[in-house]
Amino acid sequence: MSEDYEVDYEVNCPYCGHTPLHNRFCANLFCDEGFIDESEDDPINFIPGELVIPCPDCKGTGVEWWCPKCGRNLSDNKRLRQQFKELRKLQDFD
Ligand SMILES: [Zn+2]
Ligand SMILES: [Zn+2]
Repeated sequence: MSEDYEVDYEVNCPYCGHTPLHNRFCANLFCDEGFIDESEDDPINFIPGELVIPCPDCKGTGVEWWCPKCGRNLSDNKRLRQQFKELRKLQDFD
């Protein structure tokens, strides 16, 4: 298992105030851009597209964010989400 992740000083943890926060593209094998098609996990009971759920690791965002200090998963934090989006936009232009 690789422990690759990005470190971002532009955001801080809403719970403990820690910065930097860590992020990486979601490592969940079934995750496709933040969503999981249940048929990938259970092809017997589901047909593709029948049940698509937000990924529990990245909360439907495709990118996992977490605080290395308090250990919280911050992927679904609404305030941070907007900041994450802006940051990714900037990174895309690099
Ligand atoms: Zn995911
Ligand atoms: Zn924290």
